[in-house]
Amino acid sequence: AQLDTLDIIVLAALLVGTVAYFTKGTYWAVYGDPYGNSLANGNGAAKAGKSRNIIEKLEETDKNCVVFYGSQTGTAEDYASRLAKEGHSRFGLNTIVADLEDYDYENLDKFPDDKLAVFVLATYGEGEPTDNAVEFYEFLGSDDVSFSDGQSVDDKPLSNLKYVAFGLGNNTYEHYNSMVRNVDTYLTKLGATRLGSAGEGDDGAGTMEEDFLAWKEPMWADVAEKMGLEEREAVYEAVFEITEKPDLSAEDDTVYVGEPNKNHLEGSQKGPFNANNPFIAPIDESKELFTVKNRNCLHMEIDIAGSNLSYTTGDHIAVWPTNAGKEVDRFLSILGLNPKRHTVIAVKGLDPTAKVPFPSPTTYDAAVRYHMEICAPVSRQLVSTIAPFAPNDQIKAEMTKLGSEKDYFQEKVTHRNLNLAQLLEIESNGEAWSKVPFSLFIEGLVKIQPRYYSISSSSYVQKDKIAITAVVESIENPGNPHVLKGVTTNYLLALKQKQHGDPSPDPHGLNYAITGPRNKYDGIHVPVHVRHSNFKLPSDPSKPIIMIGPGTGVAPFRGFVQERAAQAKAGQNVGKTVLFFGCRKKSEDFIYQDEWDQYKEALGDNFVMHTAFSRDGPNKVYVQHQIEESADEINKLLEQKAYIYVCGDAANMAREVNTILGKIIAKHRNVPETKGEEIVKAMRASNQYQEDVW
Ligand code: FAD
Repeated sequence: AQLDTLDIIVLAALLVGTVAYFTKGTYWAVYGDPYGNSLANGNGAAKAGKSRNIIEKLEETDKNCVVFYGSQTGTAEDYASRLAKEGHSRFGLNTIVADLEDYDYENLDKFPDDKLAVFVLATYGEGEPTDNAVEFYEFLGSDDVSFSDGQSVDDKPLSNLKYVAFGLGNNTYEHYNSMVRNVDTYLTKLGATRLGSAGEGDDGAGTMEEDFLAWKEPMWADVAEKMGLEEREAVYEAVFEITEKPDLSAEDDTVYVGEPNKNHLEGSQKGPFNANNPFIAPIDESKELFTVKNRNCLHMEIDIAGSNLSYTTGDHIAVWPTNAGKEVDRFLSILGLNPKRHTVIAVKGLDPTAKVPFPSPTTYDAAVRYHMEICAPVSRQLVSTIAPFAPNDQIKAEMTKLGSEKDYFQEKVTHRNLNLAQLLEIESNGEAWSKVPFSLFIEGLVKIQPRYYSISSSSYVQKDKIAITAVVESIENPGNPHVLKGVTTNYLLALKQKQHGDPSPDPHGLNYAITGPRNKYDGIHVPVHVRHSNFKLPSDPSKPIIMIGPGTGVAPFRGFVQERAAQAKAGQNVGKTVLFFGCRKKSEDFIYQDEWDQYKEALGDNFVMHTAFSRDGPNKVYVQHQIEESADEINKLLEQKAYIYVCGDAANMAREVNTILGKIIAKHRNVPETKGEEIVKAMRASNQYQEDVW
């Protein structure tokens, strides 16, 4: 309750016109054109020939606060830039935002004691660091970590370093927020001093944003006190300068109309393809695995031949989405930008270290359609920031109230699943919000994120074709006049409709720009890259495996079973292959039903499938029940060192399976339940138990 009160007080203060934004000198950027060839070959400072020395960087740019982020989906990055802006506008800190992978850490022992380091760290999957934080994490946690002065841990080499930390996690995972917890422990052990408490946001409880808001106020108070900073009245200062270019046309070949980088702009796409440089891949095949009422599930085969991309069974494919035309139109209209949506704009950081999140010059239309996450849930802090620019005082007052009252905001915005443009439309009754600087949206909205899919094919069977199995997100909410349409899955659905020449290719009036910028995606293409995972079959196929994957959680297991069936056909010795699958109704959403029979032919009795249909009988049956019923078989297989895999819903299913396994082991091996839990833990640690959950 105390935090809530503080939260409200400080937010109220913000709203008297002290909106938190910084100006000059806040983001670390790759100088020059970050979307040029250098970026296509990898990310960051080193590849662009820039210094990896953060101490030098801070001195060169005259900063006294660095906000590091370890981010996978963009939220941690967003929080980092919000903290940087706020640190500057409210406390006069000269801040810089830094991607953890762009720096080296051996010289952290030289971090000046009058400066501040902020760490915003997401935990990914099984308590792992995000991709961009792996090196940092391994460096800091290493037993023989050594710094530039050669001091050992006992010398407390980081005793000059002052820091604060916030973690982004999900309490449905076992290793909740382990990234921030471990980094905090390592830093403390190395002698660094944390100002204030380390914050933890919980995505599992859906309170991430509120946890963040509640953490940062006491944190700022501590930082201000310990660093002798005085709070000042903050006014919005734009981070980016947007210059309209009437001399340029959207048709000019120097203008980005959605191309992700320079390679793509200049015509032929060039590899290596990765998280900064997608491959525009042909979709070979697409179909709906089921279609019932408001639910449907897609299967797509994506061709990566000739791209030099490769995958192994169990990896993820990332799909780069495009926003629905309907939402792009809504966004541009409510901002009053519709008449000039195709006007060419140059976007530039007002400070050389400000990183423009998309290539420029571009158009308003392209920036919104291809680069900004406009459909996501609205942040309460952003509502406060926009309030002063409302069309009139009455709307401003209402926006101010929404921004400052947590419960009111929940009721009016969060629970209704509104996106930003929908909220603005409702609040102004359709009147345009033409006073809001466009820079504020670039700062306040997250860069659009590629979505991951567990690859549902085997690389042993089809190395050049990646299969995706995805349920199309469509959520009706009684309080919301709009149906919430998942950005990526509805884009994929539209691609599928187009491929099949559906006469009404756009099923929900969403109207996607299917052919992409300059028709470069024509002929049914989708931008993708591959992310390698640790979710892997045993290298020896004779080892038994148990797979638990209800719903789309079965995706990677289709790949696993496809692989083992092919290995069996090729005469290899394939071990017991047990699959637990669950869905609502056998006749409705039992995906790949016919295929399982074929795999059974190849694998014989070594393939056992247990199914649970939650809506077929009088009682709801889930995979958890089937597992309990097969307890004896499972325990025996585990004793034979079977690998066990769980994929799908992290919130409930995966956690319950974990608990049930502990109990099964305890019961069948006649040991206490705590021992059963320990055995499960040990199985996880040794990779005998693997999860791919989301
Ligand atoms: P989004 O637009 O991202 O929306 C997703 C959800 O966010 C919505 O359902 C809603 O709950 C919430 N949301 C969005 N906007 C709002 C708003 N304005 N207000 C309130 N709530 C909102 N999915 C599969 O189907 N198959 C797979 O094999 C698969 N594998 C995955 C593997 C990994 C490692 C991960 C991380 C995820 C995987 N997913 C998989 C999930 C997938 O990445 C996507 O999250 C999913 O398809 C939804 O994407 P979308 O863009 O369609 O929906």
